[in-house]
Amino acid sequence: MNRIRSFIKTFVLWELWQGLSVTFFNFFKPPVTIYYPEEKAPQSPRFRGLHAQRRYANGEERCIACKLCEAVCPALAITIESDVGEDGTRRTTRYDIDLFKCIYCGFCEEACPVDAIVETRIHEYHMEAPGENILTKDKLLAIGDKYDAMISADKAADAKYR
Ligand code: SF4
Ligand code: SF4
Repeated sequence: MNRIRSFIKTFVLWELWQGLSVTFFNFFKPPVTIYYPEEKAPQSPRFRGLHAQRRYANGEERCIACKLCEAVCPALAITIESDVGEDGTRRTTRYDIDLFKCIYCGFCEEACPVDAIVETRIHEYHMEAPGENILTKDKLLAIGDKYDAMISADKAADAKYR
């Protein structure tokens, strides 16, 4: 009996019609694809993209060169050198993140006691020349300055879950 059923199914191309029926019914459903880059998928405030260094409202950089982020980084992507500034505070003289090593785990952001290093929503970036994979302190601060409103809003949205 099974052999007869199998023969008939083969004869009438049963599997083909089954597959086409899936295509037919999905043809009338709204598309689930988005047309990137014109359309963007929703992002969480916790999205872990390009890094940034933040300042306080008075322009003072937040980082106190405690090196917790460097110690916690599992990829050894952060390099910090520090010194005592003219005002007696400890500051970084070098703060590099190697984006080729970084695995975007977010540990540096979690470890930072003053919310200085953060990962932004920015994920559309590229490098064209050797060395552009190194995010220096100046670059990090510039990113933080440029996207401060977005970073602050994301921090505020996530604050109640921390
Ligand atoms: S996101 Fe993770 S891997 Fe990248 S710099 Fe921070 S701690 Fe290191
Ligand atoms: S970014 Fe934060 S954790 Fe890293 S050295 Fe500066 S203050 Fe410390």
